Amino acid sequence: MRSIRRGDNGPAVAEIRSILVGLELLDTASDVFDDDLDTAVRAFQQSRGIGIDGLVGDETWGALDAARWRLGARTLFHSVPDALVGEDVRALQERMLEMGYDAGRADSIYGPRTARAVAQFQREVGLTPDGSCGPQTMKALRRLGRKVVGGRPQWLRESEAFRQAGTNLMGKTIVIDPGHGGGDDLGVVVPDGPLRWTEADLVFDLAARLEGRLAAAGMRVHLTRGPQPAATLTGAERANLANSLGADLLISLHLDGQENEAAHGVATYHYGTGSGLSSTVGERLANLVQREIVVRTGMRDCRIHSKTWELLRLTKMPAVRVDLGYLTSPVDRDRLVNPLFREQIVEAILAAVQRMYYPVEIDVPTGSIDVRQLRVALANKA
Ligand SMILES: [Zn+2]
Repeated sequence: MRSIRRGDNGPAVAEIRSILVGLELLDTASDVFDDDLDTAVRAFQQSRGIGIDGLVGDETWGALDAARWRLGARTLFHSVPDALVGEDVRALQERMLEMGYDAGRADSIYGPRTARAVAQFQREVGLTPDGSCGPQTMKALRRLGRKVVGGRPQWLRESEAFRQAGTNLMGKTIVIDPGHGGGDDLGVVVPDGPLRWTEADLVFDLAARLEGRLAAAGMRVHLTRGPQPAATLTGAERANLANSLGADLLISLHLDGQENEAAHGVATYHYGTGSGLSSTVGERLANLVQREIVVRTGMRDCRIHSKTWELLRLTKMPAVRVDLGYLTSPVDRDRLVNPLFREQIVEAILAAVQRMYYPVEIDVPTGSIDVRQLRVALANKA
């Protein structure tokens, strides 16, 4: 559809205004797209991680449509096959997580795990545990007030479950996700004299090397794609694949690119929302991967960041995406096209995975692990 923008007016504008008034981003309802509405749309886009342009196109409209549902305005339940989606579901999930119920991630989708968390809450407050959130359940939630529980209980539980999984890599399942590939999605492409480098090929090479090393350490390793897949997988498809394999960890590999060839360095991303919910286990993995790579390779440290990308949001295991340098940077590119350098990166990621399972009390300084030695130590401990 054509974007709705400043200067427009009519029923669609009135609808946008009424949603934004409901979200307390705008004071007055009308059917005119004025400067106030432009400001409100930009604020909304910023809060949802959508490109900030003040235009209401398909993506912004979809987010507004989901946002119109305020918690309590409708009964929420686990609907099959089409799950209920909306801002109210996210608000409920965040509420459940704050109170220590395991609603999974606040992904705005009312799935079975959210229903189970609601049922557990209902049982504890003496309501019929039907797993749906209607007027009675809302009343109980309001009665409890907005008690903020410290320590992000859900993520502490996730840490605990991870800790209990033991220190041995043997039999753990890891999914390595080389980005892009398939169709004409090659990711970042850099013609360099007679040579042409693509992100899709280089990250597949890295994934294949990593697969060999992780398998040798006793892990079950799956790649999300082959070297020349027929079709491109979406983030959700990659996440579903990892979920269906019951993976313990997922690491997605990408390279970055920018017009400005001075941009260089490595960055790692884990799941987290702007409102402070984040996966502590995912964050730990991101930290380890980032630090091992920076220390071992000397690449510029572009730090770790939280994101709500589909791949990170929909995966049920700790998941990170690492952008292993800028293919557009002559500095990074020279190194990335060198197989020996790629081996160094693989070694760093392997060390990070090992350290994930290494008891915190005997953890070792970054960059110091001899992976073979560690493997022996872990095997003896198990
Ligand atoms: Zn990429």
